[in-house]
Amino acid sequence: QELVKRLNQTIENIPDFPIDGIQFKDISTIFLDHQLYKDVIADFVQFSKGKIDAVCGIESRGYLFGVAIASALEVPFILIRKAGKLPPPVISESYDLEYGSAVIETREGQIEKGQRILIHDDLLATGGTTEAAAKLVEKQGAEVSQFSFLIGLKDLKGDEKLKKFNAEIYRTLE
Ligand code: IMP
Repeated sequence: QELVKRLNQTIENIPDFPIDGIQFKDISTIFLDHQLYKDVIADFVQFSKGKIDAVCGIESRGYLFGVAIASALEVPFILIRKAGKLPPPVISESYDLEYGSAVIETREGQIEKGQRILIHDDLLATGGTTEAAAKLVEKQGAEVSQFSFLIGLKDLKGDEKLKKFNAEIYRTLE
């Protein structure tokens, strides 16, 4: 696929960042090429068109594409943020990290009961963050219908954590 090829030429792989043994994918170069950015959004829009009522984006790189997807589909965009950034009232969900745990939040009342939700993030690794986001959505009486990611790393088995939500999963790149 042509888009995949262009993305692979654009995204930078940085070894041993932020710690030894991690290969960091730097997507910041995508935003230097407005035509590539537009084509990435169009691809995400095609996946979700007619299938969702709102987009939830995960802080912070999930916003870079998520807002544009929601705008193109003419549906609301809801921010999922790390704890302590959104003013009350908020709904929270905690999840385990390799060391310790983390909490994510949305403003109460922004997700509506029965809505079909797309959860979007730039990168799926272990799936821990996305799983917590999906639980946060379900807690509010909405349905997780789709997940989309620019990059979905296959060997970390993030998909397996997401299976139980019975939602479609799309990754632009593996
Ligand atoms: P997970 O919870 O292990 O699936 O990690 C996903 C989260 O970590 C996403 O919000 C990503 O933005 C971030 N992340 C993990 N690895 C990378 C990377 O190599 N490049 C950019 N973001 C990453």
